[in-house]
Order: sequence, then structure tokens, then C-alpha cells
Amino acid sequence: MSEQRRYEMVVGLETHVELSTKTKIFCSCTTAFGGAPNTHCCPVCTGMPGTLPLLNKQVVAYAVRAGLATHGKINNLCRMDRKNYVYPDLPKAYQISQSDMPISVGGYVELDSGKHIRLHHIHIEEDAGKLVHENGSTYIDYNRGGVPLIEIVSEPDISSPEEAKEYMTKLQILMRYIGVSDCKMQEGSMRCDVNVSLRPWGQKEYGTRAEIKNMNSMNFVVKALHYEYERQSDLLDSGEKVTQDTLRYDEETSTTVLMRRKEDAQDYRYFPEPDILSFRISDAYIEKVQGGMPELPMEKKKRYLASGISEQIVEDLYKYKRVTDFLDETVRLGGNMQKAATLITGTVYALLATEEEKENFDIPVSAEDFAQLVKYVDGDKVDFTVARKTLQKMVAEGGRLSDYIKPSDLADIPEEELREYCAQAISERPQAVVDFKNGRDSAVTSFYGLVKKRLQGRNINIKKIDAVLRDLLSKM
Ligand code: ADP
Ligand code: MG
Ligand code: ZN
Repeated sequence: MSEQRRYEMVVGLETHVELSTKTKIFCSCTTAFGGAPNTHCCPVCTGMPGTLPLLNKQVVAYAVRAGLATHGKINNLCRMDRKNYVYPDLPKAYQISQSDMPISVGGYVELDSGKHIRLHHIHIEEDAGKLVHENGSTYIDYNRGGVPLIEIVSEPDISSPEEAKEYMTKLQILMRYIGVSDCKMQEGSMRCDVNVSLRPWGQKEYGTRAEIKNMNSMNFVVKALHYEYERQSDLLDSGEKVTQDTLRYDEETSTTVLMRRKEDAQDYRYFPEPDILSFRISDAYIEKVQGGMPELPMEKKKRYLASGISEQIVEDLYKYKRVTDFLDETVRLGGNMQKAATLITGTVYALLATEEEKENFDIPVSAEDFAQLVKYVDGDKVDFTVARKTLQKMVAEGGRLSDYIKPSDLADIPEEELREYCAQAISERPQAVVDFKNGRDSAVTSFYGLVKKRLQGRNINIKKIDAVLRDLLSKM
């Protein structure tokens, strides 16, 4: 591993997350993704002179939620600031953002190792429009202009490409859980600027960093960081200095490319936004938001692990809030947690191909029916394979559990009757009896089907059939 070489990697991420509000941050235009260019716009979000921004309260509400979910301290007094720069995607020539008085300060994101990636702060701001390059021309689409963002700024606590990916994943899961964003990197609703520097192991001071702008894929972040490690360590090894550059990642070559040097670094000349009053967030309000916070993913993960569900299954479960809600409800209704978890990840997931389908977890099975099915399995009334097949059908075709398994089918089959069927089955397959007696244990399974046929659809756990068969065989 190259990272084990002479230098320690130091990474800090600035993550932009588009909030799931219906309308934009300073006007009532829709935030819907896509749409014909420049159709989700009005005089406010296209920066017409004389228009005034009106801060969307829901944006503040979501940002407070994000701050609390990351264990930050919410500022009681917040302010919007103007960040000035000229670029065609920004018609006002300034972005309304926050500088000194952001929504949330501090906090952290916890990784699986238990390591905390500390956050510097979280602030709110407006997104810019999008430049579309086509056939040698550049077009501007302002639909995205004014879509609300939170920027989550980490401390430089990340020490490898893999850790950067895990941090982003954890953040994505968290923001989805608390319902503030769908964090779809491929649609740009989560993007990040990656700051990276190297320093000799053991050195306290940070090295000079490069910043890779606007990454929209975690795998690219990983690749870009590996590349930067090589580039910067080559420079340092040969006695040269790393310059504080702004880079972009080139997907074609998997390398980083220089955009601009620090010499022409921007001076944004931040100043308080005169068109929006600073605003207060009361302790009572913060407490209310805290009170409505769901159990957070890492807490959930720890709880599931403690309950004895295997690590792999927990990993498949905990990231999807709706799945965990369904599981928790099943358990509340008396279903066994481990069996329920296994049925969800083993059987239901087979029919939910994409991440998005798992995220939405829109299945036509009620928690009541699912809990009942789990209870049948748990009480040895229904065989696990039967349960899987039933569940598959229910997920694919809908309907109630009682359409598939009638309670009458589950009436206990009298011991006498079962012994009778088993004895008949054994008498039909003398060769299997010989095989079994000769030590081929699996020969016992060849009687299962014969017994089941006689049960005519009535359900019984295969373990019971197996036990009776073995008992009879042992007496022969
Ligand atoms: P700026 O305002 O120029 O963007 P900040 O000090 O706000 O700079 O830092 C931005 C991001 O860069 C933060 O996420 C921070 O953790 C990270 N960062 C700062 N210094 C370093 C460094 N030497 N190496 C890696 N990341 C760094
Ligand atoms: Mg920056
Ligand atoms: Zn608008």
C-alpha cells in the first residue's frame, strides 16, 4: 500500500448536499431535478435587479436537523453572507451563503472503526446554475440556481482514500435517514471538494494542500486521492514543494488536472447579506427538532449487531431507513429479529435490484403479515423454504398472507397420522432404506416428498418429518 510509505495522507472534505425542500431557498420555484432548461426559474433565482430573496424556513429546519444528527452545536444567532465571484452560472455575481455565523458548528461523523471525523461547521447556501457544453458551445441552465444546499465542512481528520469513501457513505446514509436529502451523487445532489495534503509520519503541522473540485462519485474520490498521493509524494521526494492548487479530476485519464494556482485564488469579499436579516434559532426550537430525531444509523447498527445479527446482514440492513423501520415494526409485533432480518436480506432484497428500490422499500407486504410469517417459521409451523417462497410471491404479486397460507393448513397434524405417512413412504423406497442403513445420511431426504404428498398441502415443518422418519428408520 502506497499510503504506508513515507507520508501520511491528510484529507478534509467540503460536502455539498442539496436539500429536499419542494421550493428553492429564496423563491417559490420548484427544486425538481431535470426539466427543460430554464423552466424552473423566476426573477429572484435568475438574479434580476430589484428582486428580494425570502429565506425558506424549511431550509433552516433541515440544516438544524443535519447539525444535530452530526452532534453539532446549533448557533442561536445566524446570518447570511454574500460570497462574491463572477461566473456565468451565478447571475447575481454573488452567492448568498454563510460565513461567520453558520447554522451548526463542530460535531462529527463516526466511522465503523469508532474513529470520529470532526466537522468544522455546516452552513446553508444557494446552488448555482449549470453550464452545459455542447457542440463547441456553452449553454446555461438556471434550473438548479437557488436550490438550497448545506455545505458540511470536515476537519482534516481523514487519512486514506478508503476512509474518505466511508465518511461520504456514512454522511449519505445519515442525511437520507433524517430525510433532508436523497444524496444522489449521479444527479449531483451530493458533491464534494476534496482537500488533500501529505506530511511525513509523526509531523504535527499539515502540509500544503491541493483541492480537487466538485467530485460527483465516491469511486472517483478514491482514485483521485490515490493519484494525488503519488503526485505529491513524488514532488516531496524530489525536494520540491506542493503548491496550493485547485484541481479537477479527469475521468478519462484517472488523473487530476490543474484548474488554477493559488496566485489567482479568489478573494470572495464576504460581507453580511443586506437583503436578509440575521435570524435566531431558539433553544426551544432546537429541542423540538432533537425530540423528533429518529434513531440514527450508527446507533441502529450497533443495536442490531448487539442483538446477534451477523455483520454482513446488518451491513445490508442498517443503511436503509425504511427497511429498518419495517424490521423494527416486525419485531415489535412479535417476529424474531434474526429470522426477519434473514428473510429481508435473503429473500425480499432479491426482488429489489437497485439501491433506490431498497431505499424506497415499497413492497406490498404489511409488517403485520410479515411478522405473522416469521412467527410461523419461528414456531416451526412453516418450513423456512416454504416461507421464502411465500414471501417471494407476496412481494412480487401482493395479497395477504392468508391468501397463501391458510391458518387451517397449519392445524397440527396428529402424530399418529404423520407416523403413518412416514411409514408408508419408507415402505415405498426400500433402496433408500438400505442406503440409509449403509450410512448415507442424506437418503432420508428422499422420503420427504412422499410424506408431503400425503399431507395434501397441509403445512408442516420439515424438521418434524425428518425426526419421525429417523425414528422409524432407527427401529428397522
Ligand atoms: P478554504 O476556506 O480555503 O476552503 P478551509 O480552511 O475552510 O479553507 O478548509 C477547507 C477544507 O480543507 C476543510 O475541509 C479542511 O478540513 C481542509 N483542509 C484544510 N487544511 C488542509 C490540509 N493541510 N490538508 C488537507 N485538508 C485540509
Ligand atoms: Mg474550499
Ligand atoms: Zn425562482
